[in-house]
Amino acid sequence: MIYLDHAASTPLDPEVITAMQACWASPAGIGNPSAVTHAYGRAAAEAIEEARVELAALIGVDPQGIIFTSGATEANNLALQGLARGRADFGRHGISSRTEHKAVLEVLQSLSKQGHTISWIEPQRDGRISSMDLVSRLRADTQWVSIMHANNETGVVQDIAQFATLCRERDIFFHCDAAQSVGKIPIEAGKWGVDLLSISAHKFYGPKGIGALYVSERVRPWLVPLMRGGSQERGLRPGTLPTAQIVGLGVAARRARSLRETDTAHLKTLVKEFKQALAALAGLQFNDHPLYALPGLVSLTVEGVQGESLLAALPQLALSTGAACDSTSGEPSYVLRAQGIAPEWAQSTLRVSFGRGNTREEALEAARAISEVVPRLRKRDQPGEPPARGSIPWQVGEAGSIREGCRVRCYVQRDVAGKVHAIEFRAFVCPDVQRVLDELAEVLPGQWVESLKVGTPADWAERHHISAEKLGRLLRVEDALRQACKQA
Ligand SMILES: *Cc1c(COP(=O)(O)O)cnc(C)c1O
Repeated sequence: MIYLDHAASTPLDPEVITAMQACWASPAGIGNPSAVTHAYGRAAAEAIEEARVELAALIGVDPQGIIFTSGATEANNLALQGLARGRADFGRHGISSRTEHKAVLEVLQSLSKQGHTISWIEPQRDGRISSMDLVSRLRADTQWVSIMHANNETGVVQDIAQFATLCRERDIFFHCDAAQSVGKIPIEAGKWGVDLLSISAHKFYGPKGIGALYVSERVRPWLVPLMRGGSQERGLRPGTLPTAQIVGLGVAARRARSLRETDTAHLKTLVKEFKQALAALAGLQFNDHPLYALPGLVSLTVEGVQGESLLAALPQLALSTGAACDSTSGEPSYVLRAQGIAPEWAQSTLRVSFGRGNTREEALEAARAISEVVPRLRKRDQPGEPPARGSIPWQVGEAGSIREGCRVRCYVQRDVAGKVHAIEFRAFVCPDVQRVLDELAEVLPGQWVESLKVGTPADWAERHHISAEKLGRLLRVEDALRQACKQA
């Protein structure tokens, strides 16, 4: 199996594993980093400060500004909830974009229920946010702006330095979710004037469950902590720090800094060869930005094939249709939709994210596998009637649409006695619905057209363990089937 989902999470760098293993059983691993009355605690505190310096160097800030958290989700929560509460007396208005990660969007949705107002920026067709759109949403009571650095679905990179400068000139605080970009593209958060920056270790070959929020001196007095219970991390994030996790984060940061240029060159080669190897396949569109792109991430729309079906047909490739968190809902990506990409295209999109460990052979193998599978899947929805079988004409029923993620055409032949002689489906569907179609095609021949024994969509959903969200699609299947059988 080839791992091509580095935007969801990365494998640990071997040096990270070694450093964490060495830490666990050492004095630094034993001591509580706050218990500095003895050597164990001091060793732990030193290991943590060393990691803090490494991470600060990676993003170009003063180590004092690094607050360790459980990851970028917590960092986003601390930044946005903390600031909204801390600045509430001055104003309750903030600005963000429609293409943010759920860990920003859902925090902002909850803030808006608590009486804050959020103005949303729509990205341009290429995924970039224009500074004019940002400026046009500024109000006298605007307290903060939150815009991500690199998008987790498309890899589109924003001009953070420009946004931060705009905000600083107006005394507005600027937060950036940089979970995808840290360790992969250069960041100078201090020089750029970013106030808050969210970081996740497991996106750059560090361990899961650890990350950080960079907090500028300017914004620190205004940040209200999410939790109470201790003075760790300057009171902003109480609780005993996980020393080994932080050591792993520090080593990952050091490695990212020393390997960044070779990583970038390697990833660019992989993407180039992958795209070249796909050049012969018609009906493809790339949504990643030609210029402002996260190295290694390809967003690929395959016309006429549902993303989920493509994944199911490629079990040897570990990749995703978009954000890992949405991969079960079957809804087309809100990120691509916000960019103005039609739902029928958005749901035919795969995210391929290469990493440090991928080889050229793997990139070519992935392209070969996709090229082989796509024509086969497109055939399932090929236009026109099925070939004649005997002299009985086909009756057709059709329901749904590509836009809805489910279009089914059902072709039925009934013999003179009124029995189903043959049945075929032409469908643009997800693998769940395809399983139902396959089953129907098997059990229907020989049944009386007037009294089909097939059960209800609810029965199908239960039998095939299909989530309730997809019941609407199964109703479409029933519609098409009934229509094809009804005609005399
Ligand atoms: C992965 C990711 C997060 C969440 O990070 P965790 O450390 O897993 O909580 C937030 N934002 C973006 C853009 C991400 O890619």
